[in-house]
Amino acid sequence: MDSTLKRTWASIDLDALAYNCRHLQERMGPGARMLGVVKADAYGHGAVQSARVLEEMGCAYLAVSNIDEARELRLGGVGLPVLQLGATPADQSAAILANGVTQAVYSERSAQGFSREALKAGGTMRVHIKLDTGMSRLGFQCDEAHFEDSLEAIDRVCGLPGLEVEGIFTHFAVSDETGASSRAYTLLQYERFQRMLRRLEERGRTFAIRHCANSGATANYPQFACDMFRPGLLTYGAGEAAERLGLKPVMTLKSTVGAVSRYEPDTFVSYGRAFCTRRETRLGVLPIGYADGLPRSLSNKWQVWTPSGRAPIAGRICMDMCMIDLTDLPQVGEGDEVEVYGAHASVGEAAGLAGMIPYELLCAVSKRVPRLYCRHGREIARELLLRG
Ligand SMILES: *Cc1c(COP(=O)(O)O)cnc(C)c1O
Repeated sequence: MDSTLKRTWASIDLDALAYNCRHLQERMGPGARMLGVVKADAYGHGAVQSARVLEEMGCAYLAVSNIDEARELRLGGVGLPVLQLGATPADQSAAILANGVTQAVYSERSAQGFSREALKAGGTMRVHIKLDTGMSRLGFQCDEAHFEDSLEAIDRVCGLPGLEVEGIFTHFAVSDETGASSRAYTLLQYERFQRMLRRLEERGRTFAIRHCANSGATANYPQFACDMFRPGLLTYGAGEAAERLGLKPVMTLKSTVGAVSRYEPDTFVSYGRAFCTRRETRLGVLPIGYADGLPRSLSNKWQVWTPSGRAPIAGRICMDMCMIDLTDLPQVGEGDEVEVYGAHASVGEAAGLAGMIPYELLCAVSKRVPRLYCRHGREIARELLLRG
C-alpha cells in the first residue's frame, strides 16, 4: 500500500466529520436525533470508518441502500440501528433479521412479503413506512388521488404480524433549491406528510420516529426536524449549503506532481489535441485520471490547488493521468502535493464546471484511490479497496 501512497489518495478528516455532525445536531435542536447516511460507502468516504465516528457523536441511526452495505457495517462492528432505504426483495428477509436491519416499507405488497418471511424466519422485522409525497419514486402515494387508498393500506400494514412499525418518513425532491416554485413544492410535500401523520393518528396509529429532512431540508427548513433528520451530503461538508453553513469538507483528494517538462509554443497536449500551448509552457503530469474518479468532463476546466496558486488542467484528462499548467507556478515541481478537491478547491465548484453534482464526484472516487483516515489530528488507518 505504501507504494501507491505518493500517487493519488483521499485524505478523510474524521475530525471534520465529527465537527459537521455536532454542528448539524445543534442546528436541528435537542428534540431531533440525527441519522447518518452512509450509503455508497459513505459517499466515497468509507462507510465503516465514517459510521464509527457518527456513532461516537451520538447519531441514533444510520442509513444504507442495500443489504450488502448493511452487512459491511455489521462486519465492521457498527452496532447502531441501520435503515435500509432501497427497494428490497422479500427473500432477503432472513439477512435483514440476522443483521438487525430496519427495512423501509414502500407498498402494501412489500410489507406483506416482509411479514410473511419474518414469520417464517421466526423473527420480527423492524420497519419504517415510506411515504411518497412528491418524489414519485418509492412509497405510499400521498397526492390527492391516492391519499385515502394509501391511508387504508398503511393502516393494514401497521396491523401485519411479524412487523414492528417503528417509524415513518418521506423524501424531498427540491428542498435544496430556494426558488419560489421549489419552496412551494417542498411545503406541499411537508404538508402531505403531516396530513398523513394526522390521519393515521386519528386511527390510533402513531410512530416513534417521524423523519423527512435530507441535506436540503436540514439547510433550508430546520423547522422540519421532526424526531430525526437524515443529512448525507451536508455531513460530508460538500456542496453549496455546506459552505454556507461553515461545515468542513471531510474528503481532500490529493495527488503528487510526477514528471515536469517544458514545451514549445503551439504544441498539442493530450488526446484529441484539445489544448495547444500559446507560449513556452511548463507542464506537470499528475497521476490521477478518470479511472480514479476525476471526470473527463473537467478537461481544460478544473484548476487543482497548490500552495503557490491554482494550476489549470491542460488538455483531456486520461484514464490514469492528466497534465497541469505550471508555467506561472515555477515554485511547484516534481514530488509536490496538490489538492484536486478539498478545502481550497471545492468539489461543489468542480461539479458545477463538470455539469455534475458534488454527490457524483465524491461517489466517483474509485477503489484504486487509497483512503487515509485522520482522527484527533493523527492518522488512524489506511484502506485500499483493491483486492490485495
Ligand atoms: C440519500 C438519501 C438521503 C440523504 O440525501 P442528501 O441529499 O445527501 O442529504 C436522505 N434520505 C433518503 C431517503 C435518501 O435516499
